[in-house]
Amino acid sequence: MMKSFIKRIIFYSLVGCLIYLTAWADEKVPVFVSIVPQRFFLEQIGKELVDIQVMVEPGASPHSYEPKPSQMAAVSKALVYFAIGVTFEKAWLKKISASNPRMLVVHTDHEIRKIPMDVRHHNSDQEDQNAVKHEREGLDPHIWLSPPLVMAQARNIMKGLTQADPMHQSIYEANYQAFLKMLAALDVELKDIFAGEQGTQFMVFHPAWGYFAEAYGLKQVPIEIEGKGPKPSRLKGLIDHARERNIKIVFVQPQFSSKSAEQVAKEIGGRVAFVDPLALNWAENLREVASKFKAAVK
Ligand SMILES: [Zn+2]
Repeated sequence: MMKSFIKRIIFYSLVGCLIYLTAWADEKVPVFVSIVPQRFFLEQIGKELVDIQVMVEPGASPHSYEPKPSQMAAVSKALVYFAIGVTFEKAWLKKISASNPRMLVVHTDHEIRKIPMDVRHHNSDQEDQNAVKHEREGLDPHIWLSPPLVMAQARNIMKGLTQADPMHQSIYEANYQAFLKMLAALDVELKDIFAGEQGTQFMVFHPAWGYFAEAYGLKQVPIEIEGKGPKPSRLKGLIDHARERNIKIVFVQPQFSSKSAEQVAKEIGGRVAFVDPLALNWAENLREVASKFKAAVK
């Protein structure tokens, strides 16, 4: 009698444990990323094992974003935060990690060599040279727009997920390998698009495409420098330059107003066109951007 009672207790506790374990294994790892394209990267590597929330909401600028109280509450329940080094993190990442001390903060820009914004700036006159000197500390944060640099970010993401959820290490590693293949194929595809177009220049309002330009042998000509619109003398220089190089399109992005872009476009008898550095459908978006840049100078 007693024996079967104990057996029953053992049986039911085992069933209980099993139910508990299954429920736990079904739970997704709650993670946060800073910007929308990182959601795409996390989806590739974490797939159905992660639940992803994005800090900088669509339409907002990662340079100046301020998290909402509801987002601060949500991030306090996350297991991992994947930072990427965008400007708003300078002001907020400490507060974010203080709100959740147990959360793992992964710097996905780890071991990526960033280039100062000013190196690529097109400056023709002395006034610009001086303006640029002031901004020397600024490193270009737009590392998510170059497939070769995303390969390094993917590795950091895979390592972070593995650290937070070691039970699924082999799945994360396999997904990471598949993502690397996709990135390598995209890289080849983009190289093909720009084969024989080395040195092609494209004019943009906000200089988000420096690493992209670098990867494919192009040159970005930005209107805005470090969040500031151009002085009249620089504007004139840009217009002359566009005329010289037969640039007919000025690219803008949805997150910034584009008055000076429109002004330049009008002066050169061209037009303004949209390219979005923060699109969710990251790979497809880069293909589209590539064909727009290619078509911009003809
Ligand atoms: Zn930007």
